[in-house]
Amino acid sequence: MRKIIVQKFGGTSVADTNKIKNVAKTVIREKQNGNDVVVVVSAMGHTTDYLVKMAKDLSPDPSGREMDMLLSTGEGVSIALLAMAIQAQGYDAVSFNAMQIGILTENIHTKARILKIKTDKLKENLKAGKIIVIAGFQGVTDDGEITTLGRGGSDTSAVAIAAALNAERCDIYTDVEGVYTTDPRVVPNASKLDEISYEEMLELAHAGANVLHPRSVETAKLNNVPLRVRSSFKQDNLGTLILGVDKMEINRPVAGVAADLSQARIVVCDVPDKPGVAAKIFSALAKENISVDMIIQSYARKVSNTNDIAFTIDSADLDKTVKTLDTLKHDIDAHGDIQIDDKIAKVSIVGAGMIDRPGVASSMFETLAQQNINIRMISTSEIKISCLVDKSDAHRAVKALHKVFGLESTEIADVKGDLPDV
Ligand code: ASP
Ligand code: MG
Repeated sequence: MRKIIVQKFGGTSVADTNKIKNVAKTVIREKQNGNDVVVVVSAMGHTTDYLVKMAKDLSPDPSGREMDMLLSTGEGVSIALLAMAIQAQGYDAVSFNAMQIGILTENIHTKARILKIKTDKLKENLKAGKIIVIAGFQGVTDDGEITTLGRGGSDTSAVAIAAALNAERCDIYTDVEGVYTTDPRVVPNASKLDEISYEEMLELAHAGANVLHPRSVETAKLNNVPLRVRSSFKQDNLGTLILGVDKMEINRPVAGVAADLSQARIVVCDVPDKPGVAAKIFSALAKENISVDMIIQSYARKVSNTNDIAFTIDSADLDKTVKTLDTLKHDIDAHGDIQIDDKIAKVSIVGAGMIDRPGVASSMFETLAQQNINIRMISTSEIKISCLVDKSDAHRAVKALHKVFGLESTEIADVKGDLPDV
């Protein structure tokens, strides 16, 4: 049986018609290797940002349904253009949007999850020898409503399609050469990793390494889809392979350092120390589809019998969170105020090798102390330690940690682009 390779090209790779011609060549090369090829593409260049900006010009809080109607158009342009480019180079190609295929999602606008992908149309067209080009990022509900998967969601579309088709591999082509030990715009001598486990990648993606949409890694892990992140522009470079931790020999405590600059911290002060308070707060947030990251409840104060509950969210959800908490304040009998701080960042170190290796946390804290960086919150998982710090300290923290854990390369990474905003 012929193997199926799923290829995904991000916005930078299809930013103009010349780049689309190059993408067509890469697609055709895989076809010439004797494989069936399914391609998933994002919107061209900064199209999605531009669409978001226009929406915000018209309304401070546009409805989710109309945002999805709007944003899903970006990918519609790139699939048609890429299919044309492939055809112009003499190969049979056909483009489909999510509605045509049946990429079924939850009925949640702007960040829906994929529930099921119908494969009949895909299999039929592959059998007919066609290269299939699919719009990433978008989906459709049972009753025909258009949804999107959240910013950066095309990666997830590609992996979910690879899983549904039982593909040999999913190649994510992008403008970087692979997964680095940290953002090379912050640390120019960051190293490119040849391999990383799903588990580590997942933690790094959640910690703010913007290489892959976190849900794409989850989906790859769940379905055991080997995932390769590689450069659209340097194709001889094999990039980074992401695979199961069981298939790797890990001898480094820390694989990478990441900073998430788009977090906000909320503190609900003086809530009664009794059962059900946390449940009420976080159920109300969950109902609004707000994901919460770090959570800390202070040790109960004996005299007043109250706690403070602090947590972090994506700063994009800040307004919604404050509104939700304001309506809840009375119900949970909170006596204090609700404090908000969006000048914070989460800095994390990640590595499967830190399991059973004492001293990793203390090295992190010591390094931050030497830099005179104050830690505002700490959270850990088996393979990650995160510290909340002031946003203005984030890059300094990343540089120092990257050095302490020996992640530097002797080469300077070839990466263009501006430093992420602080
Ligand atoms: N076009 C969408 C975005 O810019 C999806 C993607 O690129 O993955 O977020
Ligand atoms: Mg992307």
